[in-house]
Amino acid sequence: MYEFAVTPAVTQIRRRGVVITEVAQESIGAEFELEAGDRVMRVNGHVVRDYLDFRFQTAGEDELVIDVRKSSGEDWELNIERDEAEDLGLSFEQIVPRQCANECLFCFCKGNPETARPSLFVRDEDVRLSFLYGNYTTLTSITEDEMRRVVEQRLTPQYVSVHATDLDVRAYLLGIDKERADIRGKMRRMLDAGIEIHAQVVLCPNINDGDVLRRTINDLAELHPGVSSVAIVPLGLTRYLNDERLTPVTSEFCRQTIDEVSAIQEDLRARLGSTFAFLGDEIYLKAGQDVPPRKHYGEYPQIEDGIGMVRSFTNEFEALMRKLTRKSGQLARAQTIEGTIMTGTLFAPELSKLIKGFNKRFDARLQVIAVENQYFGGDVSVAGLLTGGDFLAARSRVTGDFAIIPRVALKSDEPIMLDGMHFEELERQFEVPLYAFDFSSLASLLADGSIREIHSEAGQPA
Ligand code: SF4
Repeated sequence: MYEFAVTPAVTQIRRRGVVITEVAQESIGAEFELEAGDRVMRVNGHVVRDYLDFRFQTAGEDELVIDVRKSSGEDWELNIERDEAEDLGLSFEQIVPRQCANECLFCFCKGNPETARPSLFVRDEDVRLSFLYGNYTTLTSITEDEMRRVVEQRLTPQYVSVHATDLDVRAYLLGIDKERADIRGKMRRMLDAGIEIHAQVVLCPNINDGDVLRRTINDLAELHPGVSSVAIVPLGLTRYLNDERLTPVTSEFCRQTIDEVSAIQEDLRARLGSTFAFLGDEIYLKAGQDVPPRKHYGEYPQIEDGIGMVRSFTNEFEALMRKLTRKSGQLARAQTIEGTIMTGTLFAPELSKLIKGFNKRFDARLQVIAVENQYFGGDVSVAGLLTGGDFLAARSRVTGDFAIIPRVALKSDEPIMLDGMHFEELERQFEVPLYAFDFSSLASLLADGSIREIHSEAGQPA
């Protein structure tokens, strides 16, 4: 059995094997009469614990012996021959995340209102989700079994919340003892096995800033290129997360951090050929400064953590403006656009600047409104944490023929917001049509006036 990492994620009983949720028509799976609800127990004699195991055990194999427990309780052994690249046509249940056993000072789970969606209280800490989705783990609870799996199945890259390489500080931030906080050996083992690591620091004023941060960046830079980047993101306080040991991030703190880290970044670029340690967009915006230019971000290694989103969005927007300027035929459509774009208070000033330029150039009448986050309160200002209630509270400020909310405010796999409100419910309460847009949908609107909703995980920055 797969060993749990200290704290099981859920109380539900986990059965062995991995459950098939869908079988594609006319696939090999259908040919062998597999059905939703059947459980794959073994592949070529190897125990299968989840779909990552299934993928690993079947990859590159053209002869497969698959042990299946049918939903009726029967056990089947299937001998399958296939062309190497031929898909079996099976979809599987989602991975149930393992949870951490930390008590981080700044844990966002503590910052949720009691009524928040249950999934917001899941303290996931799972190397599988780190590999699949870029979720950060602290590695404090990783078991030997999990470590072996990362190495054997090459679950690379891994995203590791380091926070501080000073052990006293790390232990304090994570609310655990120093022995558990020490992950140097675990990181070394991963790096020696060729696993790439992206690191993260949640920057807490007066705790892991200043000299502690400098040391953290330098220690991690020693592990470059195995450790390929570090994301430094500011502590976010909500009205529910008000631990007195935490100091809010101010504009002044952001300016000071930029000054200090810029000097280190310059040195790192000279030594490593990469900026390596990236400050979160929020730090520049809060400091009232422009985000760095495109080349600062290289291949945007921490874009999943929101780093470089503003630069990427701004550059794409400007490229779109240039394209539209060249295509004069499309200007006539753009002139008819009149509506409202809603976003978080952090990004609103930047977006407003871009939209004003668009309005002026193409005689459109778009407005950007900054939506306050009343649900979480505190200094939460990013678009992705806005809720249905927040958009409703801003509804009276909407003008024009339509309103747009950022796609990132919806769950990636269903149109529901963090307060549990369904997009349709929100839509019903607006007097004009409401759309959830990412950049490409917004670009289409600006380019030809067409409204089309695109469901993708990409979205407006911050
Ligand atoms: S912030 Fe800390 S306590 Fe919260 S889920 Fe992450 S590792 Fe666990």
